[in-house]
Amino acid sequence: MLRLRAQPFIEARVMLPTLVNAHIHPDKTTWGGPWVSRRPATDIAGYSEQDAELFRSQGRSVAERARGLMSHAVTRGTRAMRAHADVAPAYDLACVEGVAAVRQQLRHALDVEIVAFPQHGVIRTPGTAELLDEAARTGTIDMIGGIDPIGFDNALDEQLDLLFDLADLHALGIDIHLHDRGEASMEALRAVIDRTRALSLQGKVTVSHVFCLPTSRPANSTRSPPSWASSTSP
Ligand SMILES: [Zn+2]
Repeated sequence: MLRLRAQPFIEARVMLPTLVNAHIHPDKTTWGGPWVSRRPATDIAGYSEQDAELFRSQGRSVAERARGLMSHAVTRGTRAMRAHADVAPAYDLACVEGVAAVRQQLRHALDVEIVAFPQHGVIRTPGTAELLDEAARTGTIDMIGGIDPIGFDNALDEQLDLLFDLADLHALGIDIHLHDRGEASMEALRAVIDRTRALSLQGKVTVSHVFCLPTSRPANSTRSPPSWASSTSP
């Protein structure tokens, strides 16, 4: 006769690291609204112009749209994100304020770092530098953003000096979009590394995208990748 013995019930669970979205632009989303198709654009200025058009055409605020996307991310397991929010005269600080409002609303479930991102350029778009400064003074943001200081802004030292001065003054991090390829991007990387070291900001500086890295070799650069690694976290 088969005798069954009661076995202690063991509940098996798997612990995994939480999901982190390290680069998201929730201010640009139309999540929860009608589908919006982008027109083809040939350069960053073309895409940025469409961003501004989208912003003006939306009946819903940045906070409403961003909350939809960020809440959805939480339901799928994301527990932390670094959110880039555009800062430009076309928006004033509306994008930063909108994303900051959602950060407050979701603080029980999501850790959010906010980057004040000068999508329209820092130097080429007058008024942006003042807005970055204002954003830094509010205490709302965690990082100062930048974008192709040579290829887009055509002002390597001017842009980087401004970003690093703000970061140093307000104890913020830096996250720079670098889409350039070739020598311009390597020159920008070297300039970022030099300033990172000069201000002892190691570990607080990120370079995003960095399309130049896969095709770059130490022979193409006057400095080797290990020296980059000690300075930045691309
Ligand atoms: Zn981005």
